[in-house]
Amino acid sequence: MCRHLGYVGPPTSVGELLTRGTHSLRTQAWAPKEMRGGGTINADGFGVAWWRNGSGGAPEASRYRNPDPIWTDPAVEEVLPQLVSGAVLGSIRSATVGMPVERAACAPFVDGRWAFSHNGAIPEWRRVLTAVTSDLDVAATRAGATRLFETARLLEAEAATDSAALWVLLRDLLRSTESGDYAKSPATALRLLVDAVLRHMPTARLNLLIGDGEQVWATTVHHALSAFVTDDVAILSSEPYDDDPRWQPIPDRKLVFARPGVLSIEELTPPDTERS
Ligand code: GLN
Repeated sequence: MCRHLGYVGPPTSVGELLTRGTHSLRTQAWAPKEMRGGGTINADGFGVAWWRNGSGGAPEASRYRNPDPIWTDPAVEEVLPQLVSGAVLGSIRSATVGMPVERAACAPFVDGRWAFSHNGAIPEWRRVLTAVTSDLDVAATRAGATRLFETARLLEAEAATDSAALWVLLRDLLRSTESGDYAKSPATALRLLVDAVLRHMPTARLNLLIGDGEQVWATTVHHALSAFVTDDVAILSSEPYDDDPRWQPIPDRKLVFARPGVLSIEELTPPDTERS
């Protein structure tokens, strides 16, 4: 079910990162090793985000996406290697049954400095995310935040998929971290969202990955994730792209934060709010 990879470190070639290693993200598209919960290949497109300095000098995510299998796109070897960035977020897609195969459904989804990918699926996502939106609205209003979460916002989703709709909610939560309005940090934004979705759909699969050009955050709910962190580089990836023993598997139900020299792994659901 989709694979993704977030990199922060020395400037690297965007295209090379997609094909790096004996088990690169591109190889994982047709020969993944750790698929859980259905799906055998990731042939429904791919996307990659990189960062450059925007008008105000702050990092801003740019992206390239294609709804065709990654191994069929010559841009991966002929164009993307010419782009160099200190942060990259790549994704390959295996569309969930019933969801469209189109460019707009391919991660990463971006907003300003943020890029996002979702590996997983939310059963009955329209009902669930409408309910989650109402919950967030009530909680944010109670916390005195300006109104962020009207259900009509879900219509802003780029595609009719769970991931694109989830991004609308996460995007608004991340915007609220910047204004200090509701979620106080990206980690809190992820926790609020995952917790709300699982409350309405305990079988939802929610491996989320976000990057802001300097750091990466991820959650593990059902799917695989590994981390590679040294003083110079931080990588979170659904599957290790090579045999380096420094790759570390992340257990299920974790919230992970990484940047060069730092790897933090926390319980996703604090024991006092854990539900059976
Ligand atoms: N449900 C999402 C989609 O269809 C993600 C799919 C996946 O993780 N395989 O795009």
